[in-house]
Amino acid sequence: MSGGPGKAAEAAGWRLRPLGPSRARLAGGFLADRQRVNRERTLPHGFDQLRRSGTLGNLRLAAGAGGRYRAAADSSGATFPFLDSDVYKWLEAVGWELGRAVDPALAAAADEAIGLVGAAQLPDGYLNSYVQVITGGAPHTDLAWGHEFYCVGHLIQAAVAWHRGLGDDRLLGIAVRAADRIDKEFGPTGRDGVDGHPGIEMALVELTRVTGDGRYLALAARMLDLRGRGLLGEGRFGAAYWQDHQPVREAATVAGHAVRQLYLDCGAVEVAVELGDEELLAAVERRWRDLVATRTYLTGGMGSRHRDESFGDPYELPPDRAYAETCASIAGVMLGWRLLLATGGAGYADAIERALYNGVLSGVSLTGTRFFYVNPLQRRTDRAYEPSGHGERAPWYPCACCPPNLMRTLSSLEQYLATSTDSGVQLHQYATADLRAQVAGGSVRLAVGTGYPWQGRVTVEVVEAPGRPWTLSLRVPQWSRSATLSGPDGAGPLAAGPGYAELTRPWTAGEVAVLELDLPVRVTEPGPRVDAVRGCVAVERGPLVYCLESADLPPGVALEELCWDPGREPAEVPRPDLGDDVVGIAVPVVRDGEAGLTAGAVPYFAWANRGARAMRVWIPR
Ligand SMILES: [Zn+2]
Repeated sequence: MSGGPGKAAEAAGWRLRPLGPSRARLAGGFLADRQRVNRERTLPHGFDQLRRSGTLGNLRLAAGAGGRYRAAADSSGATFPFLDSDVYKWLEAVGWELGRAVDPALAAAADEAIGLVGAAQLPDGYLNSYVQVITGGAPHTDLAWGHEFYCVGHLIQAAVAWHRGLGDDRLLGIAVRAADRIDKEFGPTGRDGVDGHPGIEMALVELTRVTGDGRYLALAARMLDLRGRGLLGEGRFGAAYWQDHQPVREAATVAGHAVRQLYLDCGAVEVAVELGDEELLAAVERRWRDLVATRTYLTGGMGSRHRDESFGDPYELPPDRAYAETCASIAGVMLGWRLLLATGGAGYADAIERALYNGVLSGVSLTGTRFFYVNPLQRRTDRAYEPSGHGERAPWYPCACCPPNLMRTLSSLEQYLATSTDSGVQLHQYATADLRAQVAGGSVRLAVGTGYPWQGRVTVEVVEAPGRPWTLSLRVPQWSRSATLSGPDGAGPLAAGPGYAELTRPWTAGEVAVLELDLPVRVTEPGPRVDAVRGCVAVERGPLVYCLESADLPPGVALEELCWDPGREPAEVPRPDLGDDVVGIAVPVVRDGEAGLTAGAVPYFAWANRGARAMRVWIPR
C-alpha cells in the first residue's frame, strides 16, 4: 500500500493504515512547492553529483569496466564503503516521482542507474561495488564497518518504491536476489551476523509484504534478536555506538550513533507489528519517550556529538555544537511515522511535524541544490566553532548520505498526510491535497485546502463518501491553544484541544469541515536542565521554529550583541523576499542597553540562503 523512505505498508498489526502512494497527492501550497523543487532541481542535481563523484562509475567498475574506484577518504584515512546506498536512495526518490507523473529525463537517468546496478550484481546475488572492486571480492568479512547489509537495505527500499509507485519490478528482481544471498548465509541455519549500521531490518519486512515470502521477515527478526550480544565488538567508539551493547528489547534508552539507533528502531517497530510482539514495540516506545524528553532539539534535530555522531547525554543539547545530522531528523520522521501507525498516538504526528518543518527542511537550500549535513541552532559571527566541511550548505559531500535521503523524503511527503481505519480517516499533517481512503462502508475522497504553515485554516471538503457514518479526525497540534472545529449543519465551531478533533456523521459529497488553528507567535523557554541555553528564549509560530540571522541586521551590528527585550511583544511581518506568503517575526531586542530595537527572525528552515552568516535560534534575555 504505501512506501516513502521505507515507509511501511499495510500490515496486520498497524492500528492506522497508510493511504499509499497513489491515494494521496499534494495539490498546492508549501509542501507541494518543496516537492516540486525536489523534482525539478534536486533530483537532476543528484544524478549529476552521483556521476561526478564517481559513485555511479563504481558500479560500472563492479560490472567489469576498467578504472579506479572512487571513494572519499575520511579523517582516519579509511575509504567509505557505503556509497552504493546513495544511488539506491536517489532511485527510491525517482521511483516515487515517476509514479506520480511522466518525466522522460528522470526516467532515462534512472534507466541508466538501474542498468548499472543490475550489471554489477554477481550471479549469486551478491552486490556491493566496494567489496567487489576494492577488497578482492570476499563478501561479509567486515560486518561491523562494511555496510553491506545496509546498502542492500536501501536497494530493497528503492525496489519497493518502484514496485508500489509505478509497478516496475526491475529493481525488485535485483533486490530479491541480493536479499536471498544474505539469507542463504545468515538465515536461521546460517552464520550469526548483524550489520554495524542497521537499516536492512525495516527493508526486509517490506520485502516480505511485497513478495509474500516470510523468509525476509524472519531474517529481520533474527537480526534484531542477535543485536546486543556483542557480535560487532567494541570498535572505535564502544558497542553502544552500533547499539550492540544491550538487546533491542531491553535497552531502556537510545544510545550511540543517532541514525543507526533510529533506523534500528524503525525495523523493530516493523517486526513488532508483523509478529504481534508487544514487548518489542513497548521497548521502542519507551526509548522514544526518553529521546523526545531529553535528547531532542527544538528543531526536531537529534544527536549532539560530532565525534561519533551520537546522541549526547540527557539534556546535552548545545545549540552551537549541535550535530543534528539531516539524516537523523529524517530517521526521526521515519520512526515517528511507524509508531504513529502502530499506536495512533497524536504525539508521534506532532514530532513528525516539528522535525519535518525544521530539522529536515533546513537540510536543503531553497534552490534545492545545496545541502546541510549538520544542522546547528547557532552559528557565531566568527564561526570559530564550525568544523570543516560542515559550514555552509554544500552541493554534495564525500559522505553523501543526507542529500539523497532528503530527496526520497521530499518525493514521498504526501504519504505522511493521512491514514485510515475501518471507522474513519485521520489527517495528521496539513497541506492542500487530494486524499482517497477506504473505510468500512466504502471509499472516501477528500479535498483539503489550506495556507499552512503560514495560515491556520484547514478546509476539508468531502468529495466522495459512503452512505454510512464515519469519523473524520483532524490533528490539533500540541502547540495549539485555542483551535476550533466546525462541521456541516451548524456543528461548531467547537473548541478543540491537542490530540485529534473528531466529527462523526453520515457525510455526503459537498459537505465541509473547517479546522481553525491559532497561530500566535510563541515565546518558548528551554527546560531548566538544558544548561547550554539557560536564560534564553526562542520564537515559534505554528509548526515553525524561527531564528535571527545576521542578514537581517543593520551593518556593523553583530548578532552576539543582541538580547531579548522582555518589555515588548514580537510581531508578525510579511517576508516576500523569502517566498510568497512567508511570515517573518520582528523580535524586540536591546543592544548594549539601547532599547527599542527590533531584529527580523526568519523560519529556521530558510536560514543560510543569503550567504554564510551568523544565526541563532536561542536568544539570550
Ligand atoms: Zn546523513
